[in-house]
Amino acid sequence: MAQVELVELTKVYPGEVKALDALTFTIPDGEFFALLGPSGCGKTTLLRTIAGLESPTSGQVRIGEQDVTRQSPGRRDVAMVFQDYALFPHMTVVDNIAYPLKVRGADRRTRAAKAAETGEQLSLRGLMARRPAELSGGQQQRVALARAIVCRPKVFLFDEPLSNLDARLRLEARTFLKKLQHELGVTTVFVTHDQAEALALADRIAVMWDGRIRQLGTAREVFRRPADTVVANFIGSTPMNLVPGKLLGLDPSVIWGARPEYLGFSAAAVDGALRGVVSTVEHLGATSLVTLDMDGFAVGVVVPEMDEPRVGTDGWVIQQPGRVLLYDAESGQLLPEDIRDFPK
Ligand code: ATP
Repeated sequence: MAQVELVELTKVYPGEVKALDALTFTIPDGEFFALLGPSGCGKTTLLRTIAGLESPTSGQVRIGEQDVTRQSPGRRDVAMVFQDYALFPHMTVVDNIAYPLKVRGADRRTRAAKAAETGEQLSLRGLMARRPAELSGGQQQRVALARAIVCRPKVFLFDEPLSNLDARLRLEARTFLKKLQHELGVTTVFVTHDQAEALALADRIAVMWDGRIRQLGTAREVFRRPADTVVANFIGSTPMNLVPGKLLGLDPSVIWGARPEYLGFSAAAVDGALRGVVSTVEHLGATSLVTLDMDGFAVGVVVPEMDEPRVGTDGWVIQQPGRVLLYDAESGQLLPEDIRDFPK
């Protein structure tokens, strides 16, 4: 087990594509770390550079206390799980799991014993003699995980390992992965473009954009206090309300930001609440997303099903102290001040 440290890590591909732009941060030993960002922001490049499959243009990768920047992938003691699992189709499950042990020169008995033990741990006992084509997607994913953990690497690198699973299986696999990582305590870097997955799994999240980190924090920090309007838009299953306006008395242009989950709703007038007209009601299950028209701006509020209003009625939006954010209208950066008033 080990921490992973990146120092001024830069990768420029031929054609002047800067995939990584001077990244510097440390992932502590045992942490579940998610790299989150849109397609093309550099997530896979970063993961492959940590693995040693890609060499950086400049900067360092350190694993444990060691500079591994120039070490081959095999010597870094990391295990990578790919989106498509990359299992060997002609090998049985047990041989797939045992493969990394074979590469390391373990004898036949050790290989069989360790592969059986790891297969058992990942609930693959009855499937050891099958080939990958005879397994479901979820089972194939567990074989790929088993193959990654069989050598007890210092670091796990996951490149969207759940994205080929259907929605329900994906949730199951997510819970399973979180539990497994916790039990093994192995430092894990997990790449995803799915914000819900990152929030659910990670201790900390780095939100990447154009080869840089826009925000790095715990899952809760990134959800509660997005560092800028881009992150605010990207994180959360219902989009954050972002309403432009001016701060009363102070005259700077700001953007009022409030998550629909952090706003309250009342069908009757409440002191200090903001009045609007209910324009849509979308069912989310036990809650509904109610959108109100407020002087031409749409504001969404998540409301428990029993409080669901009718479209066309008046509604009042209640702001929770400490849950409403202000962003600079020009730079989009989070402002330190608390909300003073609803922008006019
Ligand atoms: P996705 O979520 O779509 O996999 P990503 O965030 O993992 O995207 P990368 O695959 O790391 O992004 O790509 C980062 C940037 O580098 C992109 O602009 C991509 O086009 C470019 N890129 C990636 N690989 C190469 C390559 N071998 N040669 C040139 N450019 C590349």
